Amino acid sequence: MKLNILGCYAATPRSFTNPSSQVLEMKNELFLIDCGEGTQVQLRRNKIKFSKIKHIFISHLHGDHCYGLVGLISTFRLLNRENDLHVYGPKGIKEMITLQLKLSNSWTNYPLYFHELESKEPELIYEDEKLTVETIPLVHRVYTNGFLFKEKPGDRKLLIDKAVEYNIHVSLYKSLKKGKDVTSESGELISNHLVTTDPEPSKSYAYCSDTAFNQKMIPQISGTTVLYHESTFLEDKAKLALPTKHSTAKEAAQIAKEAGVKKLILGHYSTRYANINLFREEANTIFPEVDLADDGKVFVFE
Ligand SMILES: [Zn+2]
Ligand SMILES: [Zn+2]
Repeated sequence: MKLNILGCYAATPRSFTNPSSQVLEMKNELFLIDCGEGTQVQLRRNKIKFSKIKHIFISHLHGDHCYGLVGLISTFRLLNRENDLHVYGPKGIKEMITLQLKLSNSWTNYPLYFHELESKEPELIYEDEKLTVETIPLVHRVYTNGFLFKEKPGDRKLLIDKAVEYNIHVSLYKSLKKGKDVTSESGELISNHLVTTDPEPSKSYAYCSDTAFNQKMIPQISGTTVLYHESTFLEDKAKLALPTKHSTAKEAAQIAKEAGVKKLILGHYSTRYANINLFREEANTIFPEVDLADDGKVFVFE
């Protein structure tokens, strides 16, 4: 699992910082999460192939999370894209994009599908043979979802030496990897655990931006491998976090602690702070495993 941060600063783009966007690589699939202004430039800078993006998840319709989308969709057309593109986002996103395409007479020449979201409860919005994606309802000034990406459990690991020793026919190896007991060539029932070991633990990634302190999400993200949680402010500006429905670094750490996640990544920093290390320092008073997102940073989770 790999996470490439394209932008992780709140509000306006600046010469050296970008609004929210990131690429998650899970089980060899790329998922673009949020698409603030400048995302396509950041994709270029980070050498991410445009054609590999097939699914885009938009948390909410504030500009710093989606104003790069119409530009990216237009560029796909100029690049003669043929693959389907799926966009998941709040109700209204289809109108937002198609109106701009219509007025500029630049409809796409590839299939573009919108999956509009309006549920206030978590829902499964994507599934393939290797992973699932659920919404995480957040608390913000407009309808907002986070996204929970979960790998499905992989196959059990076959111990070839043991399989040979127990005289199991090669045609049954697939069943063994799926966890089934099998019968050996001499007619003996072989219990699965004798010839296989557990698969790699499944990884998961929760993306939570933007949101007020929201303990309601804790059961859903409990035990997650990596939690990206916004921390627009430090506690010194907690009074600003309340009306704008954002979180402080301390609140993000509190969520990470209560959910028992393995790692917390902070982002969506207000541009009023010159030193983002202060966010980690504040979060560390509550939770030890904290990392800081920054534009262009790549995290690899083995
Ligand atoms: Zn934002
Ligand atoms: Zn917002």
